[in-house]
Amino acid sequence: MIEPKVAIVTGGSRGIGAEAVRVLAKAGYAVCINYVSNDEAAQDLEAEIKELGARCISVKADASIEADVERLFDTVDRELGTVTVLVNNAGILMKQSRLEDLSIERFTRVLNTNVLSCFLCSKQAVKRMSTKHGGVGGAIVNVSSGAAKSGSPNEYVDYASSKGAMDTLTRGLAMEVAGEGIRVNGVRPALIYTDMHASGGEAARVDRLSSIIPLQRGGQPQEVAEAILWLASDKSSFVTGSFIDTTGGL
Ligand code: NAP
Repeated sequence: MIEPKVAIVTGGSRGIGAEAVRVLAKAGYAVCINYVSNDEAAQDLEAEIKELGARCISVKADASIEADVERLFDTVDRELGTVTVLVNNAGILMKQSRLEDLSIERFTRVLNTNVLSCFLCSKQAVKRMSTKHGGVGGAIVNVSSGAAKSGSPNEYVDYASSKGAMDTLTRGLAMEVAGEGIRVNGVRPALIYTDMHASGGEAARVDRLSSIIPLQRGGQPQEVAEAILWLASDKSSFVTGSFIDTTGGL
């Protein structure tokens, strides 16, 4: 397979996604930063990546809305070329709660943002990457979570359920397209220093829980990004349907 050179990172403007954009750009990929609302973060990162001499665009699009996703991929086709790496990273969690206190609206929003987005973006990617459709192949990396295994009791069962669904999608899609030049894998981070924990109502959550992590500390976004880069690149050419837990041993 030709080494992938055009990457889309959903939720690429901040946190783990932003680090994925940085490592991909440094590795020679042209990169599209997708984001949903924070124009300033996306524009600042785009400028930083261009300073490195890499090709980069940012596209504001809700990854859970089909028309937005179609526009995102069409823009990349036009401005960077056909995508060969997709990182499904966009994700949200909401305030820590027990299941009986969750509303249908919240459950639906979390599932849509975290899983429907992965389905919609993967669909567009497969249409472009699959050798069955005349493509040159590619790699999809899904950013799941250790929550897929823990279930996140008393915190966010909705979020954990979305990541469990994402892992099943990863495995199923990997087998579906394995003969068409596309590899599909996942990373499962836990307790990484990003803004996400503030959305859950506890900005200092990583520090509070760091003593239960076998490696005795929280993780940095770059430590997840390196795993994403490896799974996106031909260095992992014999790996599909697999997961790397970037959890410090949890
Ligand atoms: P973050 O710092 O909160 O960043 C979230 C990113 O997703 C932002 O770029 C945001 O865009 C974007 N986004 C949110 N909703 C979107 C949508 N509908 N469409 C497109 N983009 C959207 O989060 P993070 O901690 O880096 O998390 C990234 C991924 O890692 C998520 O899937 C998360 O579940 C997973 N993860 C994180 C941890 C952790 O400890 N941090 C642990 C396990 C898994 P704006 O800037 O426009 O808001």
